[in-house]
Amino acid sequence: MNFDLNRIVRDNIRNLKPYSSARSEFSGTAKIYLDANENSFGSPLLKWYNRYPDPLQWEVKKKIAAIKNIVSENMLLGNGSDECIDLLIRAFCNPKEDNVIICPPTYGMYEVYAHINDVPVKEVPLTTVFQLNLEGLEAAIDAKTKIIFLCSPNNPTGNSLDREDIEMILNNFDGIVVIDEAYINFSRLRSFVPELKDYPNLVVMQTLSKAWGLAALRLGMIFASKEIIDVLNSIKPPYNISLPAQDLALKALDNLEDVNAMIKETVKERDLLVRELSGLSIVQKVFPTDANFVLVRMQGATKIYNYLKEQGIIVRNRSNVILCEDSLRITVGTPQENEQLIMALRTFKTT
Ligand SMILES: *Cc1c(COP(=O)(O)O)cnc(C)c1O
Repeated sequence: MNFDLNRIVRDNIRNLKPYSSARSEFSGTAKIYLDANENSFGSPLLKWYNRYPDPLQWEVKKKIAAIKNIVSENMLLGNGSDECIDLLIRAFCNPKEDNVIICPPTYGMYEVYAHINDVPVKEVPLTTVFQLNLEGLEAAIDAKTKIIFLCSPNNPTGNSLDREDIEMILNNFDGIVVIDEAYINFSRLRSFVPELKDYPNLVVMQTLSKAWGLAALRLGMIFASKEIIDVLNSIKPPYNISLPAQDLALKALDNLEDVNAMIKETVKERDLLVRELSGLSIVQKVFPTDANFVLVRMQGATKIYNYLKEQGIIVRNRSNVILCEDSLRITVGTPQENEQLIMALRTFKTT
């Protein structure tokens, strides 16, 4: 591997003179702040909210860094993983020129943000057992390939990608390898975050939206080398994480034990749900899952999807997605919700 970040970053980004906010030019404490055109009289409703928040969210990062056993300088926070994906594409991919590789069936946002940024997308579908097609990847990579997006555990299939395959790509691809670990907390497998020191081209994404139960907060995380983080920091909106989000994240991050208990509960319920689904005659295959959802192949999936909808139960119909023909993606619910789902499926009549 011959990774050179300077070659990967777009010229305009490398030469960018980033916006220097009032809060980044002076970050200590002072008696009087007259530097940011804030409302000096305060806010009628929310004390302190008249001030701009910390642009680099150091308090929040410190807490996450302690949990992840890394340093804050290896981390960027985004307004959800959505913003993280967008930042990565904008930092490294010249519109109409560079390309990214995705491995469908996978999370839809990589492709959407590539298209928004006018960046061509190459597709190298997973194998029939939802693993990486290494030869296909090798053939697809060209001099203009800047990013390969991998998702493990993968959405919508639920399985983890083989670690040796990911390592093979990390060792041989000269561009950025993004591993989206949105569901890693539900998996038996280790995160790639500890490998950051070994791979200068590695970017790991995680989120508070799933295991932490905070989808409404909009907090996504990027873990990467300090050099990559510096590039991303230079292009992110200065105040991309609002003060309410930072404050609530600080509170939430104190509840690691409760979150771990919830993860255990979810995994237990998932395994139960898998067993129940496997016993249904309409179910053809329950795919192995390391996430908080399960992909299920059923005869007449769309009919079943509509039937469940009539019963007030909404699942995700993935029937039109490559390799997911006749498949529904079902999120693990509470014990009561799962029971109602199974009961509804039991009474479904194939006619
Ligand atoms: C749910 C999900 C996310 C989370 O996105 P946020 O914008 O952080 O809510 C990221 N990646 C994948 C694959 C997901 O399924």
